[in-house]
Amino acid sequence: MVEASCHCGAVRFTVETAPQTVTECNCSICRRSGVLCAYYSPKQVRFESAATDTYMWGDRSIVFHRCKVCGCFTHWSAVDPSYDRMGVNARLMAPEIVAAASVRKFDGAAM
Ligand SMILES: [Zn+2]
Repeated sequence: MVEASCHCGAVRFTVETAPQTVTECNCSICRRSGVLCAYYSPKQVRFESAATDTYMWGDRSIVFHRCKVCGCFTHWSAVDPSYDRMGVNARLMAPEIVAAASVRKFDGAAM
């Protein structure tokens, strides 16, 4: 079990396993947020608290969440509840967890 929290602690969640790979994406939002994304099934992510504001744009199929208090990007989730994948910001995990993962560069800007 790996714990993650935003800077102020208003958003806290756990995932079942540490990510082996985190994704650094250069799409319009990821490059601005500096997020390192780890992908999970929503079933593998348990939120203890999730005081978030949300942001959507484009085709509005994905909801981006950030902490309501400190503003850290925390995760994204699909609007379609049957989509079995979500992304959490691995930077909210302990630094040694992130350091142990390999970083995959993803060319989201090209999509
Ligand atoms: Zn916060």
